[in-house]
Amino acid sequence: MDAVSELKSNRQFGLLVLPGDGIGPEIVDQALRIVAWFGDYLGVRFNIEQALVGGASIDEHGEPITETVMEKALRADAVLFGAVGGPKWDHLPRAVRPEMGILRLRKDLDLFANLRPAVNFPEIVGASSLRPELVDSIDIMIVRESTSGVYFGEPRGIKTDEKGLRSAVDTQAYSETEIERVCRAAFEIARRRGSRLCSVDKANVMETGVLWRSVVTEIGQEYADVELSHMYADNCAMQLLREPKQFDVIVTDNLFGDILSDEAAALSGSLGLLPSATLDMADPKRPRRALYEPIHGTAPDIAGKGIANPLASILSFGMCLEYSLNEPAAAGMLKQSINRALAQGLRTADIAVFGEEVVSGEAITDAILAGLDEVTAGTQKALQS
Ligand code: NAD
Repeated sequence: MDAVSELKSNRQFGLLVLPGDGIGPEIVDQALRIVAWFGDYLGVRFNIEQALVGGASIDEHGEPITETVMEKALRADAVLFGAVGGPKWDHLPRAVRPEMGILRLRKDLDLFANLRPAVNFPEIVGASSLRPELVDSIDIMIVRESTSGVYFGEPRGIKTDEKGLRSAVDTQAYSETEIERVCRAAFEIARRRGSRLCSVDKANVMETGVLWRSVVTEIGQEYADVELSHMYADNCAMQLLREPKQFDVIVTDNLFGDILSDEAAALSGSLGLLPSATLDMADPKRPRRALYEPIHGTAPDIAGKGIANPLASILSFGMCLEYSLNEPAAAGMLKQSINRALAQGLRTADIAVFGEEVVSGEAITDAILAGLDEVTAGTQKALQS
């Protein structure tokens, strides 16, 4: 049996594909070519179902996600999501807008750990807003709590008093259980990477921060092999710009995670490069449910032209390889092939600098697939000689 065949184990994996709107379908189409390649390589049978979400679902069914699609999502091993929204649906009331499709998925699937990597591909280090020596080879994973905190806390609202003056309230609330489960997931992720975890809070001024710090410190005792540090959120915002390479994994609450992960994203360069995973890590070693999606939106300005960068969607599938399929080596191969395509000078418009030739999303995917074929052909040759 050759090396490739040996890797084949005939695993089954249910993948629900929700391309959504705008550039969603075209980037997901390219990612599915990569899924097919790895299905063959790893011997995984991907049982793929495609369905509508967002504006596409509103047009067809009058709602951003149907019960049938929700049931499929609950049954699937993972969801590969494109993006939703666009000017066509902007006039609709908030409760029935395309974005409610993704919010409902995150909530009903209880996807409480949002993972946002900030990595830099050596070949396009110039796309970052920071100097190359600060960001070359950064590899940060931000784990954000995503189902609780100030975006969900009650009471909330705006009221007007008898004098006609308005006041507003939001509530930041966390239970010990909510903190514990996301921190445990972060410790497990740190263990698979550089074994360093920085917990970010505002324990100096917020009660939720005091509890957060105390819970993460307690759990840290079970993870003696992971170096735990603490940082205030304002300092973290500064350190990400001053010395981003000091970080391996960052874990933080919903609000700080929202802000810090966008800041870290800017270190990588284009939006078209950034994947994400949102996981239910009730078992911290393996996600029970998972949603993989690029962080960018539907890019209505370039939709339908074939020029959208598919790398964020392809890298989102890379995260699926790593976390849901537990195939970190395969995810590494994929990243190498992407870097190889970039080294050949292939650039979509969003990452090209002046004078560089611009190619389509399909062409860059062709190059990644050719790179993957080359790596496996090389491995087989080495094994035969
Ligand atoms: P956007 O991310 O869609 O686009 C911002 C800019 O980045 C645009 O110039 C766009 O052309 C470019 N861009 C984004 N992705 C790209 C890619 N893969 N390749 C090349 N260029 C890319 O953000 P926006 O313009 O603020 O939002 C457009 C729509 O997307 C809105 O309706 C918004 O609500 C929605 N949105 C959806 C999600 C989601 O589904 N998760 C996230 C963000 C925005």
